[in-house]
Parts: sequence; C-alpha cells; structure tokens
Amino acid sequence: MTDAALALDAFAQWYGRRAAGVWSAPGRVNLIGEHTDYNDGFVFPFGLDRRTQVALGDRDDRVIRVASAFAPEAVSLHLDELSPDAVSGWAAYPLGVVWALREFGADLSQVRGVDLHLTSDVPVGAGLSSSAALECAVALALNEHWGLGFDRPTLAKVGRLAENRVVGAPTGILDQSASLLAETDAGVFLDCRSLDAEVIPLRFAEEDLEVLVVDTHVEHAHATGGYAARRASCEQGARVLGVESLRDVHVDDLPRAAELLDDETFRRVRHVVTENQRVLDTVRTLRERGPSAIGTLLDASHVSMRDDFEISVPELDLAVETSQRHGAVGARMTGGGFGGSAIALVAKPLVPAVSEAVLTAFAERGFRAPTVFTVSPSQGARRDV
Ligand code: ADP
Ligand code: MG
Repeated sequence: MTDAALALDAFAQWYGRRAAGVWSAPGRVNLIGEHTDYNDGFVFPFGLDRRTQVALGDRDDRVIRVASAFAPEAVSLHLDELSPDAVSGWAAYPLGVVWALREFGADLSQVRGVDLHLTSDVPVGAGLSSSAALECAVALALNEHWGLGFDRPTLAKVGRLAENRVVGAPTGILDQSASLLAETDAGVFLDCRSLDAEVIPLRFAEEDLEVLVVDTHVEHAHATGGYAARRASCEQGARVLGVESLRDVHVDDLPRAAELLDDETFRRVRHVVTENQRVLDTVRTLRERGPSAIGTLLDASHVSMRDDFEISVPELDLAVETSQRHGAVGARMTGGGFGGSAIALVAKPLVPAVSEAVLTAFAERGFRAPTVFTVSPSQGARRDV
C-alpha cells in the first residue's frame, strides 16, 4: 500500500468515514550551511523521501480535531478558541499552524471545522525535522482545503510562527522552506536575509550517488544552552566588527577580525563566514563540475563545526571519519549539533560497505548503535489524494 492509501485507511479507522483528501510534506536534511540561518546567511537543504501525511475530512461544526498514529488520543480545539497557549504537547504543532494561518490574515470566521489524522515515516528528534514536515503538511492541506490562497514562502513563515510561538522553539525558516519548496533530486538554496530561494539540481541519481544518514541517537542536555551560546557569540562578533550580521563579513575580512576578537569569538565567526562561502561554493561547484566535486566542501564544513564552532560530539566525528575512510565523496554532521545525525555522500555501490563500517566502528568504541539509512532528495509538500 502507498503511504497515501495508508493515511486514508488510518483516517477511516479513526473517524469512521472516508477522508476528503491527503496531503504530505517531507522532512529535510541540510546538505551544507550550518548555523548560518540566524546570521542572515545561506543554507542548502533538500527534502527527504520520508514524509508526514495528513488526511482531512470536513465536520459539521467549527471544531478542529487532530489525531496521530504517534498518540493514543485525539485533541480538539474550537476555531473560536485559537490562541498560542490553547494546547501543549504534540498537538501544538498542527493546531499552532491553524492559529498561525489566522495570524497571517486568513479569515477563519466562516470555515467549517475539520478532522485531521497524521501518519509519518520521518524519524522524530533525529534532526530531520519531523516538526516541519508536520507543520507544512497541515499548512498546505488547510490552505488548499479552505481556499486561503497563501503562497509557499508565506506558508513556510506560518509554520515557523507556529513553531516559535505555540511550541516555543526558536528556530529559523530553513526547515519549513525546505519542506515546502523542495523538488526531486534538487536542493533548496536559501538566502536567509532576503528569503529568496532557488532550486538547484543535485544530479545525485544521475551520478549514482546516495546520501547516507547516520542517526547517532545522541541528544545532549546542553544542546539548547549550546545553541543560545553560539548565537550570542555570533551577535557579539557582529557587534565588535560593526556589521548588522555575520552575513556582512567576507572571508577576506577574517585577518582583521582576528585582530579585533578574542580567540573563541573569532573561531565562532570564522565558522559562520567560511560556511557561508562553502554554501556558495557548493552551488557553483554543482553547476560547473557536478556533485562528485562537492565532497571537499562537505568535509571542510565538518572540520569547521568540530574545531571552530565546537558543536560536534565524538559519535558524529566517528560517523564522519569512518565514512570518509571507506570511500565517501564527503561527510559532515548536519543540524544544530551536540548530537543528531551525520550525512555522507556515497557512491551507490559503496553504500553497504560504508554502512557496515560505521556500525562496526560504533560497536568497537562502545557507542550506542546508530540507525543508518539512505535518503534521496524528493519533492516538497503536495496533495497526494
Ligand atoms: P525534529 O523536528 O528534529 O524531528 P522536534 O523536537 O523539532 O524534532 O519535533 C518533534 C516533535 O514533533 C515530536 O516530539 C512531536 O511532538 C511532534 N511530531 C512530529 N511528527 C509527529 C507526528 N507524525 N504526529 C504527532 N506529533 C509529531
Ligand atoms: Mg524540529
């Protein structure tokens, strides 16, 4: 059965009738461009072939009810009672989107309520943004079902607002943009200052390359504090250098920055400045030389995060180094750091050997067994049925 058929089935089982439609949106992985989003810089994610489906059916009243295969109970909220504090827990994501649509000007005073049911094969909490997949699937579904007329960049902002205000997670626009704008075998090159997005062909399939994800299952308690500290260092660096954000610092400015900043702040700044340049170089290299030539940029990105930004952990370093040693084109940790996943760009015939080597290396070091799987760059949010 297809995922859409499963979603229809699950809806019918839960609500006892057929859904009016199924929409889905992918999780994402960031190919390169880490901790650059909040510095007004560049990111380059792609959509995964792992998606969250939302099946939707009308109701006769003005209640929104949402159920998920992940949760034992459905959660209901009346459309006249939308507020950022109305719900907590997992239901804050879908119901937060409804509130955020209204904040962006949707007139919901006349719409009928809906029943929603969520299914997903995006791993939760692995840094692959199951949260954005959920938000974007729900946002697109309601936008189309209620005829609200928002474009995709606006729906991305709706998802971000839901996550920031209702869930309370201070995230940027990267995840939702990737989930909504992604295309098959392509990446989304996003300028986080102008929010201009360009879809860039990756040609992984053409060159027989696969992306291996190593989910380390490491989740550090200081991830939130570490994230806040990195943001503060970046703001401090920009202030001392007299720029609005680190986006305005070029690689050629780094020698001067080294004179003005303390060692730690300088290294934080150097990561962001060189990472922005690596995103630009990756896009240019893809166009001029193809995907097999971007490996050194991925490798350099990891070194920069490990040594300058100091957000890697031994498990991520081991996943990256083992992949590289066994023939990966390039490898790096991805996401915010302090745990989560690493990615490796690998020639298809080498995928089994690299996966095996990573599992063995983790066992030898006494680390918890990671989950290793391949992903391919896939289409963004869409209506399935
Ligand atoms: P990530 O986005 O990296 O997977 P987050 O912590 O940002 O991790 O988001 C995960 C949370 O999103 C889950 O704990 C849950 O509350 C919610 N969520 C994600 N997918 C689903 C789903 N299919 N059904 C219900 N809740 C979900
Ligand atoms: Mg998330």
